[in-house]
Amino acid sequence: MNKKYKERLQEQILIVDDLPENVRLLSSLLKEQGYRVDCATDGQMALSIVKRECPDLILLDIMIPEMDGYQVCRHLKSAEKTRHIPIIFLSGLDSEFDKIEAFKVGGVDYITKPFFVEEVVFRVKAQLSLIQQRQKCQQVLSEQIAERKITEIELNKSRALLTGVLNSSLDGVAAFEAIRDRQGEIVDFRWLIANPVAAMTVGGTIETLKGKRLFVEGYPGHLFDGLFKSFVQVVETCTVLEQEYEYNSFSFKAWFHIVAVKLGDGFAMTFRDISDRKQTEITLQKANQRLTYQANIDSLTQIANRRRFDEYITQEWSRCARDKEYLSLILCDVDYFKAYNDTYGHQAGDNCLYEVAKGIERAVKRPADVAFRYGGEEFAIILPHTEAQGAIKVAEDIHQQIQGLKIPHVSSEVSNVVSLSLGVSSIIPTPDTRTSPHTLISTADDALYEAKLKGRNRVIYRLVEFS
Ligand code: GH3
Ligand code: MG
Ligand code: MG
Repeated sequence: MNKKYKERLQEQILIVDDLPENVRLLSSLLKEQGYRVDCATDGQMALSIVKRECPDLILLDIMIPEMDGYQVCRHLKSAEKTRHIPIIFLSGLDSEFDKIEAFKVGGVDYITKPFFVEEVVFRVKAQLSLIQQRQKCQQVLSEQIAERKITEIELNKSRALLTGVLNSSLDGVAAFEAIRDRQGEIVDFRWLIANPVAAMTVGGTIETLKGKRLFVEGYPGHLFDGLFKSFVQVVETCTVLEQEYEYNSFSFKAWFHIVAVKLGDGFAMTFRDISDRKQTEITLQKANQRLTYQANIDSLTQIANRRRFDEYITQEWSRCARDKEYLSLILCDVDYFKAYNDTYGHQAGDNCLYEVAKGIERAVKRPADVAFRYGGEEFAIILPHTEAQGAIKVAEDIHQQIQGLKIPHVSSEVSNVVSLSLGVSSIIPTPDTRTSPHTLISTADDALYEAKLKGRNRVIYRLVEFS
């Protein structure tokens, strides 16, 4: 028995006809083809066989006793269990009306008697193969539905997991897709997802943010300078953006640490409010700046101190050596200052030093030229990139400034007002050990000593002599 024959055996056909000759003929024909066959000679009989056997197809004569073929068909089509059974009408009635009625009541085909045996077989086969195809389709469909249900369950699970993670995150988490113009350029981004922290931070809700434009529709992103360009770069170059941003609006001010990574044609972003940490950092930075300032400033005169002098001369020495440029130094000392203190008192002496420092600062104009309190009543001025001529000019200006202060000094032996003696020296520092800042300092000190010796209240320049 071949496979085809076996399959056919599964299919059962009911023949309903009151003519025994017809029944016999059709029955033997279909059995030959491998179908199982039942026969009924009236409507009632047909219905009770259908109830018992539930055939795969019915060949139904219209003109039969008890109830006609149409009634049998209507009956079967009205019941849930039997409405799927295809019914082929067999009839000697050949009018349009009968044929139409046959299809109206639910028949799938109509064969006019007397029939050709082969035609009946072909039509039966065609109907049964239609059923098979329909069944296969239904099976594939139900398999697909089942698969889809499993996928849906998995999807719902992972959605629930994602929502759980997003909702429990203390950081803001959001995802955006790029909005591009006709040329393909990114013009904005659209919110896809926002967790509760993200939504709360921008003053929206998860639902209202979804679909909104990030920059155009007024959410805070646009307030971050250059942020749009940074996000575009993330999308176009797949780079990771990690930055600290200060968000500053009328109502809200905060620092955020932002991390953005490409996600599809857009990006995902997490952000954390770091305002507290940033505030501590800023306070600390200010405290450090204050400390550095205090460490470098002389408290009496409010100009740079000796400590800063040592730092600055070393730094500028290296710079001028590298640039092969002159570095000049002026050392100055208040004349007869011990006598000033003795005459006017220590407090007056302090005030005088303060005024002298301000006077010196007024004469020192270039940003790189810096005045220092070098010791007691001595001051120093470092002039990077300055030749002897320029340094002497600044020294003369300082001399004039102090003279111009007209601070009375009755005990001075060179003037009736407070005066300065100044020693000036210049050098192009060498990177080797032949010279050092000390060379310049001691030559300027020698020049100052000479100024004192020559009668004070003057400027003396001295060349550095290499030993
Ligand atoms: P010369 O013209 O040779 O420089 O004589 P001088 O008296 O200025 O020099 P000397 O080194 O003999 O005296 C410096 C004086 O400056 C002694 C000291 O009391 C005074 N002095 C140093 N620092 C301060 C200060 O911070 N405040 C006051 N009021 N006086 C100071
Ligand atoms: Mg002195
Ligand atoms: Mg002095």
